[in-house]
Amino acid sequence: MNATTSPAAAGAETSAGRLQREIMTRYPDNFMLYADLFAMGCLLHLQGQHKAGLKLIDQVRRALPATGHKTYFVDLLEALPGNELRFAGEIQAHAEVNDLLELAQRQQAAPRYTARPAQAGLAKVTEVRTRGVQFNCPHCSTRIDGWQADPRGRDDKCDRCHQQFYIAPDATVIFD
Ligand SMILES: [Zn+2]
Repeated sequence: MNATTSPAAAGAETSAGRLQREIMTRYPDNFMLYADLFAMGCLLHLQGQHKAGLKLIDQVRRALPATGHKTYFVDLLEALPGNELRFAGEIQAHAEVNDLLELAQRQQAAPRYTARPAQAGLAKVTEVRTRGVQFNCPHCSTRIDGWQADPRGRDDKCDRCHQQFYIAPDATVIFD
């Protein structure tokens, strides 16, 4: 959340859908090239690499004629902060690229604690226990527990719908 600008207000009206249609019309054969480039620019921007992200997005802008798109692009870039994931979705880049954006967004949303060095002489805790491992079946949403180890990067099977699935190695750990 950024209080100094109003990306949310601007973003509500601005959509990358128009850009998607323009590129599709002009470059039907190379559409994914531009869509992925734009989405990667959004990803970099989301990760705080603003300069590099804007550079990639600018490459996409250059593929369109300046006339008729200038204001639109200014609006688009103004609305970019906070709308990276949505814009990337609207441009319809490859799902793999959009997955990266979703992951980046989740990581940003996760609470972040800044580690600080221990005060001299202060007693130290070196083990943290969580109560149990829980996740939901990606097929039927049934809650699955009973894992005695870190399930990330492993396969499992749902007791209820009997379907197999894979637990992503980078699955977000939530401390309840
Ligand atoms: Zn299931």
